Amino acid sequence: MSKEALVKVRGVTQKYATGRKEFIAVRDVNLTVKDGEFVVLLGPSGCGKSTLLRIITGLQKPSEGRVLYRGQPVVGVNPHSTIVFQTFALFPWLTVQQNVEIALKAQEVPHAERTRRALELIDRVGLDGFETAYPRELSGGMRQKVGFARAMAVEPELLCLDEPFSALDVLSAQSLRSDLLELWVSGGIPTKAILMVTHNIEEAVFMSDRIVVMDKDPGRVVADVIVDLPHPRHYKSPKFAKIVDRVYATLAGQTQPEHIEVGTAPGVPGGRTRALPDITIDNLTGVLERLAEMPNDTADIFRLAEELRADSDYLLRLTEAAELLGFATLAQGDITLTPLGETFAEARILTRKEIFATRIRRLPLFQWLLRMLDAADNNQLERDVTLVALQLDFPSYIAKRQLDLIIEWGRYAKILEYDDSSEIIFREAAIPVESKA
Ligand code: ADP
Ligand code: MG
Repeated sequence: MSKEALVKVRGVTQKYATGRKEFIAVRDVNLTVKDGEFVVLLGPSGCGKSTLLRIITGLQKPSEGRVLYRGQPVVGVNPHSTIVFQTFALFPWLTVQQNVEIALKAQEVPHAERTRRALELIDRVGLDGFETAYPRELSGGMRQKVGFARAMAVEPELLCLDEPFSALDVLSAQSLRSDLLELWVSGGIPTKAILMVTHNIEEAVFMSDRIVVMDKDPGRVVADVIVDLPHPRHYKSPKFAKIVDRVYATLAGQTQPEHIEVGTAPGVPGGRTRALPDITIDNLTGVLERLAEMPNDTADIFRLAEELRADSDYLLRLTEAAELLGFATLAQGDITLTPLGETFAEARILTRKEIFATRIRRLPLFQWLLRMLDAADNNQLERDVTLVALQLDFPSYIAKRQLDLIIEWGRYAKILEYDDSSEIIFREAAIPVESKA
């Protein structure tokens, strides 16, 4: 793999005029994408990811700083790059083939050559047989494939993808990720580098060689995480999980290392099992969403209690849960969302569940239960058996409530399932699972 720098972003700042004030969307960003690299830009909504893609591809000139492409300053739209957006705008009155060919027409590729290249790409993205179909006849995943084919038709050296899978259902998204990776890894496309924007941490770890983590206010780069796993990658492998966890930890905040006391697992001699805060996930989500709307994602805890008409005791439990999960930090009576909390608040339901799952897997109480489930016959546990084990650590009325909370959180995160009638706890089936929400 060659190591030549394809893109160099140096000291890029983007200001936008908003009314009388000037708003800094991204500040002093430095970033290099090398030949052969697949880089992801990850961060909360509004941290300037799309802005950076536009600047890198030359669609927009930064207020300060510069972009070099193969050592040359980018002036105007960079002809060696293409962006694929979340929902690719296909022309509804053109067929699949015509939609791909139109990109080549703009480049004045002769007719026969256009047809040949379009047909080959349609085949390569797996749409063979749909050449004459119209966009309305295709599923969301297939339409996005046409988008990829169109982007690749012009054989860009630098392929930029702005949340390309986020409008798709889970299964289509996963198959399209694998398809794109296959094309990329096999060298089936002339693309030299891919720069992809995403919210989804597992997607980033699944696909990229390097994750550039951003934060906002102002938008900036806060970390660079190398993903040195061979393809194909497996979501459930320990190495994969480790990198996911590292990225989460970065997003969960520089201000909040792992000092949050997570306690020990039940039954550890001399240990102390930390109880889960007694809250509902709906309420937790509600608070995080509200915080995401506040200036600087910060609120005074007691004002927040008033506003949400929650009693302060309950609100404190909510903030405790938010802190335990790395979604917020507390200081001087204020609660502030971490970038992870913000990502959670703004994510769709399935991404939320994924984030939640990664966070609760860190808690000794869940690790303990999952270990027991793994060791149990058929990976099932009776509620009563689990309860008895918990009663060794908690008074019985608390143990009962804790078990309910574990089940509620675990179910939400899809890491375990519970059958109410037989009162049996079991492990959730393998991901990916279609969201029922
Ligand atoms: P992201 O893609 O990470 O969600 P964007 O790059 O779209 O972030 O936006 C970064 C910030 O800049 C946001 O606060 C957004 O509202 C603001 N912004 C983006 N484009 C403009 C614009 N043309 N004018 C004013 N503000 C903008
Ligand atoms: Mg964006």
